[in-house]
Amino acid sequence: MNKRVLVTGGSGFLGSHLCDRHIKDGADVLCIDNFFTGSKANISHLIGHPHFELMRHDVTFPLYVEVDQIYNLACPASPIHYQLDPVQTTKTSVHGAINMLGLAKRVKARIFQASTSEVYGDPELHPQPESYWGKVNPIGPRSCYDEGKRCAETLFFDYYRQHNLDIKVVRIFNTYGPNMHPNDGRVVSNFVVQALKGEDLTIYGDGQQTRSFCYVDDMIDGFVRMMDSEKGFTGPVNMGNPGEFTMLELAENVLCLVGGKSKLTFHPLPTDDPRQRKPDISLAKEKLGWEPRVRLEDGLKETITYFKKIVNS
Ligand code: NAD
Ligand code: UDP
Ligand code: UDP
Repeated sequence: MNKRVLVTGGSGFLGSHLCDRHIKDGADVLCIDNFFTGSKANISHLIGHPHFELMRHDVTFPLYVEVDQIYNLACPASPIHYQLDPVQTTKTSVHGAINMLGLAKRVKARIFQASTSEVYGDPELHPQPESYWGKVNPIGPRSCYDEGKRCAETLFFDYYRQHNLDIKVVRIFNTYGPNMHPNDGRVVSNFVVQALKGEDLTIYGDGQQTRSFCYVDDMIDGFVRMMDSEKGFTGPVNMGNPGEFTMLELAENVLCLVGGKSKLTFHPLPTDDPRQRKPDISLAKEKLGWEPRVRLEDGLKETITYFKKIVNS
């Protein structure tokens, strides 16, 4: 029998690439999504495939299915989306984790959690190792996401200790590539879409804040390595590209690749916007033999090609 893989949030950016990867590897894939930020277009090419099934479902409600592996990705990831309905964001992370952990417990499935570098908040330690506990505002506009994800990690480790669940927790740093939502407000999609439309690029703050950008193919490779890693290796493990760029440098890179006449415009920095972020990936290297391979310039070229089709259609 084929391996049965459940991907929650499977029609979103990362989820759709993960569905593709498992279909390619010969698994039976069950994709569930409530289509809050996901798009059917991301998985439309899989509909009708004999090993692919799509189900509209909200993870805050129980789910009774039979599967071998669960990737729990359901959660809006961009600040403008997760702040639209912050209560639902916390519910998705917390109730979603409880339901998926309850499911994993019943069917004895291995379960993967898409956690985030946001658990480190606005970090005082740079780069961030997994042992760092973070500096998170519990009551700010980003808290629904940060604290929701932190609580989900707590639940994963309590189910591991209390019920011996086979858990795998990855802390994802900023990832980009095709299938990103064109209007989700994340910096790479914003800059690329703005440059393609000939609009000015919107820099928040002075543009000196830093992020590390990982191309989606590298990230998906990391997810699968983590899911297939030795039993007992629970993580949390950081995954991201340690190459660190200021937002001004990113803007220059995008403008250089797209060309055109766009200029830079400066706007207020959002509340609690972390000043710097860069993963320490020594654990992923040591335990999973994983490190990113795609250079920012090459990943941006693929992303620009994708957005060209969207912007022109
Ligand atoms: P995305 O918004 O493209 O995908 C999230 C998917 O979850 C969407 O398809 C959405 O419709 C679905 N969803 C949201 N709430 C749901 C609910 N209650 N029930 C069912 N489905 C629901 O975001 P993404 O970038 O693909 O992120 C996927 C996961 O990875 C998220 O958990 C996110 O927190 C995490 N992550 C992503 C990044 C990144 O840079 N992309 C960084 C850190 C963590
Ligand atoms: N759950 C689910 N699918 C399952 C099994 C459980 O969605 O196949 C949900 C169930 O609704 C429950 C949650 O997961 O609320 C946690 O399950 P668990 O067995 O850990 O706790 P309990 O049922 O005792 O509350
Ligand atoms: N940002 C920006 N212009 C934009 C969108 C975002 O300068 O049009 C900045 C944002 O303030 C943050 C960084 O880019 O400092 C990354 O933002 P994103 O929302 O992509 O990810 P996150 O803040 O969650 O890391």
